[in-house]
Amino acid sequence: MIENERIEALKKIDKGILLLKKSPLYAYRLENKYVPVPGEGSPSAHIMFVGEAPGKKEAITGKPFCGASGKILDNLLAGVGIVRPDVFITSIVKDRPPENRDPTPAEIKLYAPFLDKQIDVIQPKVIATLGRFSMEYVLAKFGFQSDLEPISKLHGKIFKTKTSYGDLYIVPLYHPAAAIYNQRLKGTLMEDFKVLKNLYK
Ligand code: URA
Repeated sequence: MIENERIEALKKIDKGILLLKKSPLYAYRLENKYVPVPGEGSPSAHIMFVGEAPGKKEAITGKPFCGASGKILDNLLAGVGIVRPDVFITSIVKDRPPENRDPTPAEIKLYAPFLDKQIDVIQPKVIATLGRFSMEYVLAKFGFQSDLEPISKLHGKIFKTKTSYGDLYIVPLYHPAAAIYNQRLKGTLMEDFKVLKNLYK
């Protein structure tokens, strides 16, 4: 797909998310004047980051990772010399759950097809999952269901698979929010980002 076709295909996906009235998060979106957060970045990114669900600031602005977790993500990216416009950043659930509660299995099931379509359009070489929910979904999607273990075991590991468009590496990472109160995890995330950088070269 050429760049313009990718841009159009991504816009179509965004529109589907905007019109997702059957979502259990739709009424909450309207009540709070929130907007969905489909994701943003390069339509032909080599790396896709997949988080959990938008927080308050994200749901107000429509921009992924623009709050406290986003600051940490920006620091981690800067630490390995990756800039946001070169990557694509999204989450598995595209609307904010009330009070940032964990997304439910039903919500993940409802929103995952949009992530699937984004992956099909962008055709990333690397998918870095941020947190447990996207790790579990993406690993299972690409056939690693039986390799699933707690994130404390799998973070920073590389899962290589083949897709119709070529090799794909999946790297589970802790969610940046985990580093807000835990300095040790911040160090772990910094080390794991070096794994990404090496795949990115
Ligand atoms: N956490 C996420 O998983 N996604 C965001 O966009 C913000 C916080």
